[in-house]
Amino acid sequence: MTAQDHIDGRERQLHIQRRNNVLSALWLAVWIIFAGIGAAASIHFVITHVFQSGGRCDMSHECPIENCAARVRNEFYMCPRHWRMVPRPLQSAVYASFRATGRISDNHREAKRVVEQAEAGLKALDLPAGTKALTVYQPWATLIILGAKPFEFRKWKFTDKPYLAQLVSRRIVVHASARRPPFGELDDILRRMDDGESGLDDKIARPIVEGLRAALRARGNDADLSEIAPLSVALGTVIIGEPRSVLDIFKGTPIADSDRLDHSLYGWPMIEPKAFERPIPSAGAQGFWNWS
Ligand SMILES: [Zn+2]
Repeated sequence: MTAQDHIDGRERQLHIQRRNNVLSALWLAVWIIFAGIGAAASIHFVITHVFQSGGRCDMSHECPIENCAARVRNEFYMCPRHWRMVPRPLQSAVYASFRATGRISDNHREAKRVVEQAEAGLKALDLPAGTKALTVYQPWATLIILGAKPFEFRKWKFTDKPYLAQLVSRRIVVHASARRPPFGELDDILRRMDDGESGLDDKIARPIVEGLRAALRARGNDADLSEIAPLSVALGTVIIGEPRSVLDIFKGTPIADSDRLDHSLYGWPMIEPKAFERPIPSAGAQGFWNWS
């Protein structure tokens, strides 16, 4: 190997090293650009999705009901208070359509419409704050509101409880439960009216009970009862009177609305019923519950 060969070899080496350095720098630049884009995208995602709407986490949305600012978790459609105002069958339809498509459906829109209509109804009612509601089975709720049922029979007298005693002579909301009236119970009501053993107003009660019976006979569980005795709705208000003992009301005669008398000790007077213009969808609860 000559001296010249040695120099050529070194130069080639230096050249290769320089080329490698340039390549490394290029790679580094490319890496920085891509990492930068990635970081920017991540920050953008965090800002738009996590801190959206004033720093709230995007696992929730606003309740879709007008003027309700409640945050609702994404697996639910409405806030709990509004969802309770959606009638049970419509709730099931909303669930079913969402499970099938994962999208907002006509059922969702119908539920929203029902609740907003109910809210408008509530505003128009102007019931005082602290008004209580009582959930009653159908057809009894409708019969109370129509003035055909002067007493609601129960095992207990609410006046035993100091916080409820103040309800005497006050207006309460009468709410119809979600329970469909069993056929046998309707038969029993009619039989008692036929036998003159009923405290119900025959003229008003009979067409209601017979109408329900006919609807259930024709269509069973598919029967639409909403025109006769709607379910899961508040129907109107009534003044609740001082509970009286059943023996006192009937003076030992076997007159009663139904076999419930056998288990009931008290009649709660249902005075001056006033129907709402339209029934208001609401899920109801046990005992007396807070309406407003
Ligand atoms: Zn709401």
